[in-house]
Amino acid sequence: MSSTLTQSFQDSRTLRESRSAPVVAVSATSDTQPGYSHRVRLNSAYITALENAGLVPVVVPPLTSASAARDILSRVDGLVITGGEDVDPSRYGQDRSPQCGVSNAARDETEIALIREASETRKPLLAICRGPQVVNVALGGTLIQDIPSEIPAALPHNSNDARSTRVHDVTIDEGSRIADAIGETAISVNSFHHQSVKDVAPSLKVTARAPDGIIEGLEPKAEDWWMMAVQWHPEEMNDSPEPWDRGLFRAFADRLTEG
Ligand code: MN
Repeated sequence: MSSTLTQSFQDSRTLRESRSAPVVAVSATSDTQPGYSHRVRLNSAYITALENAGLVPVVVPPLTSASAARDILSRVDGLVITGGEDVDPSRYGQDRSPQCGVSNAARDETEIALIREASETRKPLLAICRGPQVVNVALGGTLIQDIPSEIPAALPHNSNDARSTRVHDVTIDEGSRIADAIGETAISVNSFHHQSVKDVAPSLKVTARAPDGIIEGLEPKAEDWWMMAVQWHPEEMNDSPEPWDRGLFRAFADRLTEG
C-alpha cells in the first residue's frame, strides 16, 4: 500500500471511530399477570436521559437464560439497571413479608446475571431505584422489604407527587463518584420506593444517605470498577433547573467515551 493510500485509510478510520457512540444495555420489565396481554415495558425517560448524554440505549427484556444475559453484556459498552418490581426475598435468604410487592422471576434472574457479569468484567454500570437493590442482592447483600413497616420513623420515601418533585434530602460522601458526578454533597431528590438496601454486600460501600439513615447511594470498594447506584430517579429530572441528576448520566457517558 502506498503511503498516500495508507494515510487515507487511517483518516477514514479515525473519522468513523470518532463518530461512534457507546452502546448501553438497559434492563426493562415485563408484565406477569395472568389473563392480560403481556408486554415488555420501560419508562421512556431512561431513553431520553441516555440519549441526551450521547449514549445509544439497547433495551434488554427479562430473558429465559442467564447465559443470554451474559451474551448481551459482552456486546455492549455499559449497563443500566432500572426501576421496577421488588426483588424476590428468596434471592437474599429471607421469607417474604406480607408488605413485599410482586416479583418478576425472569427479571430477577436476568438482572442478577447481568450485574455479576458486569462486576467480574468491570463493565461500567449505572443502577437506578430497584437498581441499587438488585445490585446489592446480586453481590450478596439484603434488603429492607418495606420501609414503613420495618422502620416506622423513616421519612416518606414512596412519594405520590409528580415524578420530578424533590421530596427529601440526600447527603453524599465528599470525594465519592456520585458526589463528583453531581458536583454537590447535599441535594434533594425525588423518591418512589418502599424498599431499600439493608445489609450492604461485602464488595460495596454506602456513599449517600437520606436524613433518616435510609441508604440512597452505593459504589464498589474496588477502584477499577465504575459503578454508581442511586435510590432516586435521576432520569425523571431531564428538564430540572438543577444540573445534579444529569451529571450522573454525563459521568457515565464520560467513562464510556474515554474507553
Ligand atoms: Mn428515598
